[in-house]
Amino acid sequence: MKKDKNVIKLTVKYNLCIGCGICKVACESNAITMIRNQYGEITPHINRNKCTNCGLCVLCCPNTQTNLKKEALKIKTIECSNAYGLQNANYYLAWNPDKKQRQNSCSGGAVTKFAEYLFKNNKIQGMIHVKRVWGHRGDLHYKAIMSTKIEDFYKNSSSAYQQIDFSEILTKLEKEKTYFMTGTPCVIRGIKSLIKNNYKFKSIKIITCALICSHNTNSQFIDFLTEINKLKDDEKWKVNLRYKDDSMIDANNFKNYIYTKKNILLNKNRFESGWTHLWRNYYFAMGACLKCPDFWGYEADISVKDAWGEWASDPLGKSIVIIRDTNLKKDFINSNLNIEKLDYNIIKDHQLSTAIFKQTESYNKNFKPLLSKSNRKNGLLKFYIISNCSKLLYKIFGSSFTYKVMKIIEKFAKFGEKL
Ligand SMILES: Cc1cc2nc3c(=O)[nH]c(=O)nc-3n(C[C@H](O)[C@H](O)[C@H](O)COP(=O)(O)OP(=O)(O)OC[C@H]3O[C@@H](n4cnc5c(N)ncnc54)[C@H](O)[C@@H]3O)c2cc1C
Repeated sequence: MKKDKNVIKLTVKYNLCIGCGICKVACESNAITMIRNQYGEITPHINRNKCTNCGLCVLCCPNTQTNLKKEALKIKTIECSNAYGLQNANYYLAWNPDKKQRQNSCSGGAVTKFAEYLFKNNKIQGMIHVKRVWGHRGDLHYKAIMSTKIEDFYKNSSSAYQQIDFSEILTKLEKEKTYFMTGTPCVIRGIKSLIKNNYKFKSIKIITCALICSHNTNSQFIDFLTEINKLKDDEKWKVNLRYKDDSMIDANNFKNYIYTKKNILLNKNRFESGWTHLWRNYYFAMGACLKCPDFWGYEADISVKDAWGEWASDPLGKSIVIIRDTNLKKDFINSNLNIEKLDYNIIKDHQLSTAIFKQTESYNKNFKPLLSKSNRKNGLLKFYIISNCSKLLYKIFGSSFTYKVMKIIEKFAKFGEKL
């Protein structure tokens, strides 16, 4: 009997699926649909009658267990493993000269301004990114979109902390056209393999922009946040978890902003809303993010991140931009962003603990047992317990019980690091 080669067996089974929908687009037999699982996570479902076991879904999936192990092995062999993916690039500090656009953006608004330049100069025919959508508790609050109007670029700045299914948009791309696409590093790796392995994408050009990523969460994260802040669920709401207003003291103190068509439901500093605590402790984190070896988005043409540290004293925020594709360097310089050149040594140590957790520790996380000394020390065990317990308890008992019990679980999980 032939062995099954599909993403259910090789990705979903190991809790490594990020729900990007690239497997669905890769499948030539239309055997895959994207559904939501018991925790509201987007995940593929395979129709066995249609599946031909060709393995294309597996080839394009960025997160099969084997693919993650391969990446982790590659990273282990280089001298500065936290900086894997930063070699031979150009590094910049960048910020949008338009104050309003910068305020609406996540960091310095570099992505929006660069996309605007590419679009206005006919270098792209559209931008594949994400927009906020109205929804009740339990609904998804973000959606992948294709923008072909400049106003839609501006309206949809900022970061979406939720998994995004790109399948619907990707199936609509047209031959011989060029697009600009944003995504977390895992999604960008998937796009690169889709272009390489699926003939339908051979004549489509996608300029890829990775949003450098510590981790992502499932949709329970936003639901839980709204419940612990006692928000009503009578009307649909939209969410901006990186909201900036005129009262900002520095970029680090962004706000969580949740609103209906008529009212503002939440406008709270991220340290007061509970967001920072949940985020830093990996509540509702996607399973894949715990094993992901890719902080810098190393396959992307460009990677962009928050300029934390000394640069965060600017309340409107700044972006750090890494340009790997030298053809794009000229466009970036011409894009009317305010820019300063940065040095490799500064970038490689920027947000060092996250780069170490994701990249340097990726070998231990992908090859050694969860209870091994290295995985207790590096925090994997702790985050594994917190992310899985929060998902399960919240699903069964709701928010108030979960929050109380999770405080105890957190202490126990942290204790594991010291053993
Ligand atoms: C899940 C996640 C985790 C992150 N973690 C870190 C981190 O640990 N450290 C760090 O320095 N930076 C992190 N970032 C990146 C940071 O939040 C900003 O996205 C980045 O600095 C770009 O800011 P900007 O102001 O230049 O972009 P903007 O001008 O605000 O434009 C951002 C563009 O990206 C699109 N977009 C937003 N979210 C998504 C998404 N999930 N998928 C696809 N497109 C999207 C928007 O629609 C918009 O077009 C993370 C981003 C995400 C989405």
